[in-house]
Amino acid sequence: MAETSYDCIVIGSGPGGYVAAIRAAQLGRKTAVVERDKVGGRCLNYACIPAKAVLRSADLLSEIRDSEEFGLKVSGVEVDYAAVQARREKVVSTLTSGVDGLLKKNKIDLIEGDAALTAEGAVRVGEEVIAAESVILATGSVPRPIPGVEFGGRVIGTEQAWALPVLPARLAVVGAGASGAEIASGFARLGSEVLLLEALDRVLPTEDSDISRLVERGLKRQGIDVQTGTPVTDVSSGKDSVTFSYGSSSAEVDYLVIAAGRGADVDGLGLAEAGVELDDRGLVKVDGALRTSRKGVYAIGDLVQGPALAHKASEEGIIAAEDIAGLETHPISYVDIPRATFCTPNVGSFGLTEAQAREQGHDVVVGKVPYGAVGGGTVYGDRTGLVKIVGESTYGELLGGHIVGSRATELIQELVNVRALEGGFGEVARIIHGHPTLSEAVMEAARAADGWLIHG
Ligand SMILES: Cc1cc2nc3c(=O)[nH]c(=O)nc-3n(C[C@H](O)[C@H](O)[C@H](O)COP(=O)(O)OP(=O)(O)OC[C@H]3O[C@@H](n4cnc5c(N)ncnc54)[C@H](O)[C@@H]3O)c2cc1C
Repeated sequence: MAETSYDCIVIGSGPGGYVAAIRAAQLGRKTAVVERDKVGGRCLNYACIPAKAVLRSADLLSEIRDSEEFGLKVSGVEVDYAAVQARREKVVSTLTSGVDGLLKKNKIDLIEGDAALTAEGAVRVGEEVIAAESVILATGSVPRPIPGVEFGGRVIGTEQAWALPVLPARLAVVGAGASGAEIASGFARLGSEVLLLEALDRVLPTEDSDISRLVERGLKRQGIDVQTGTPVTDVSSGKDSVTFSYGSSSAEVDYLVIAAGRGADVDGLGLAEAGVELDDRGLVKVDGALRTSRKGVYAIGDLVQGPALAHKASEEGIIAAEDIAGLETHPISYVDIPRATFCTPNVGSFGLTEAQAREQGHDVVVGKVPYGAVGGGTVYGDRTGLVKIVGESTYGELLGGHIVGSRATELIQELVNVRALEGGFGEVARIIHGHPTLSEAVMEAARAADGWLIHG
């Protein structure tokens, strides 16, 4: 039951909104969260978590298929896709009920409904107007189709892809960024025939080019038909299939998944009436403490600048809540946020690519080491992974880290932490790492950047 006024109302219960609400409540604010769909937001219900749950099944299947190399003969392995989807649902409900419990534990009211700001800066939910000293907008983002194509029928978005009730025989994915690469890699290994199309000249086009090269090789090894530099045209969605053209070819598939970008979910939020300004990309304009142009109104997560990532949304939620409570906060260094892509091979990165560092005029030094250079790579069966450190030679600054291969999404955190603590690659090179671990490859790449690679 909603009160008539709160110290803080958060609109949206995704990883930005629910974390902001908990931090506001911890800091003594009487807080409510308004959610029009499901607690946990898109991240927990339709995006990050379901994607990773299905990918986990694909990863396990790959390991079982490779098991003979490890002296294990496994026969009769088959994909029970309905059970894969049932596990996805179970993982989601476990985590979303956890969020529900956290809201209750922190005495945060959860108000169901569609919220909008009023001109006075209050929050309207249905017929009800609720006063709030501060409002945090955390409504996330919605998928954008490609020019000339509408979602509907057999043309679907990434969130729908992960919840397909039947394993598609043929799937095409438009956009080989993180989400597109994950879908291609997941469904190809579960048994779909996959065509991955990217308009730019390489897969994961925002990653370092060395990483893109190895990921493309890995995706092709999974049987994925990877087509880069290839825009998609003439899309026509029928009852059971969709046809389209790319380059000089055409194709017919069960589903065409558009994974080519998202836009801030601001429709119906009353931003113009409340005096909350948008930038020219349709994102909500904020300062380093996530304050919008309207006093007392904050915006976080996919609504604002920076990479559209769950952990970025959560951190912004914490900053907004702390600013509301009058604590000192610091703006986020967006480039230093870890980026994770959970396709196979796994990718973890942060900071500048080698090309970006050179473009920015840094005196660049690079350390590159394959996983095979350290014992762990051979022991655990991944010699092809790569750790690449992009450094600045004068002061040994860590400008960027790029890892592709097993557990890259976990391994990258070490470099992020060292940079956050103002260490450089010289420190990583001298920190003792356990043996035999893949993290020794991170240490060796740092040594390579420092000019004294031991293994390699
Ligand atoms: C397929 C996919 C996979 C992804 N995987 C990852 C990943 O592995 N790691 C990662 O870091 N990021 C991932 N992302 C990105 C991540 O999902 C987003 O960055 C994150 O969800 C943003 O969080 P948020 O809190 O801003 O909003 P959201 O999670 O989008 O939540 C916003 C909530 O606000 C609600 N809402 C909207 N408007 C209103 C309104 N007017 N009134 C009330 N409620 C409203 C919505 O119903 C929604 O529940 C993925 C995205 C996709 C699409």
